[in-house]
Amino acid sequence: MLILKRPPLKTNDVFKACIAGLVDAGIKRDMQEYAPRISSAEEKFEAAIAVHELHKLDTNDFAADPFNDPTYIVNNLYTCGLVGRRAGREYYDKLMSISKLDRCPVCGFGVVKTLEHHLPKQKYPALCITVGNLFPVCSDCNKEKRDTVPQSAVDQTFHPYYDTVDDDEWLHAELIEDSPAFLRFSVEPPESWDHVTVARVKRSFEVYKLSRRYSVQANRVISGLRGKVTRLVESVGPIGVRNDLSEMALSHRSDMRNGYEGVTYSTLANSDWFCSGGAYSP
Ligand SMILES: [Zn+2]
Repeated sequence: MLILKRPPLKTNDVFKACIAGLVDAGIKRDMQEYAPRISSAEEKFEAAIAVHELHKLDTNDFAADPFNDPTYIVNNLYTCGLVGRRAGREYYDKLMSISKLDRCPVCGFGVVKTLEHHLPKQKYPALCITVGNLFPVCSDCNKEKRDTVPQSAVDQTFHPYYDTVDDDEWLHAELIEDSPAFLRFSVEPPESWDHVTVARVKRSFEVYKLSRRYSVQANRVISGLRGKVTRLVESVGPIGVRNDLSEMALSHRSDMRNGYEGVTYSTLANSDWFCSGGAYSP
């Protein structure tokens, strides 16, 4: 899970851009009438996420009142205003571009394709264009999370602007010595972490289905290493294989400490079976 710097954009400016192209005077008036709700929602959201208490927010404070229809708000402000209209689209593109190399901050390998609403827009329409509630993600992360709403402190998934857990190593993989060999990923945090942080990382891992998705990626790495490992076993032996894999692990972990690639290489390097070419034996 990568950290992203919160973009220096003002939600009020985003709102103005989103309604700038509205031609229906009635809808425009309704959206302007709704503006104070967006401002108060942002204040409540920012105060809660700063202390990791989004689960305490009352959804009634973020409803579509007085219009009684979340879709009316979301369609006009987000779908048409931010995604679809020129003035709003400029802000959409700015939010999408904050992830370097279009890399998804949640899984760390997917390509950024859409904006994630940390608190889902249909249940919190007043946050549908709130800057702090929006960050870029890949399609798979967006689909896996769906409309997940935190019910308790331990239920809060990680937000790349406000949460960081990559000062420590917490991603673990187990090598299954089978044919074909494969990796099974899990969360193994250091003992110094408090129980809420542990539970939140595990919850994020579960919501985004990272265990299965990392395994799929890692298994491709293992398949791709066949030629190299087979050749190195013959030329420099298991120690040479281990040194090579350890170098790769270090390199990838310096890029993303808890990325699947670094953990894959270090797990393979730690296996005598793998370094002896066992995974590729006929
Ligand atoms: Zn992703």
